[in-house]
Amino acid sequence: MPKAFICHSCDERVEFSPEKRPCEALSGWLTVSHWKGLGAVEQYNFCSFTCLKRWADAQVPKIPEVFLKAFERKRDKKRKAMRGKYNLEGGIAP
Ligand SMILES: [Zn+2]
Repeated sequence: MPKAFICHSCDERVEFSPEKRPCEALSGWLTVSHWKGLGAVEQYNFCSFTCLKRWADAQVPKIPEVFLKAFERKRDKKRKAMRGKYNLEGGIAP
């Protein structure tokens, strides 16, 4: 019975007979191991980086845009304050 790998993202299938080595049939494919704890590991196969990225993007929790913008502003303010400080103390910053 031939074994088959299925792309976790686009459902593309690649079959290979037992006498053919998987490394030949799966040339160019990517396999991700998700370690979930003691004795638990899930493997996902992808036919291309595009498929892997699409799947990975879907797993990443979405961060609200508003939160990111607030963070950006805060960091900017801090950077300006630092620059001011260094200039007063003898110009480490340009
Ligand atoms: Zn795919």
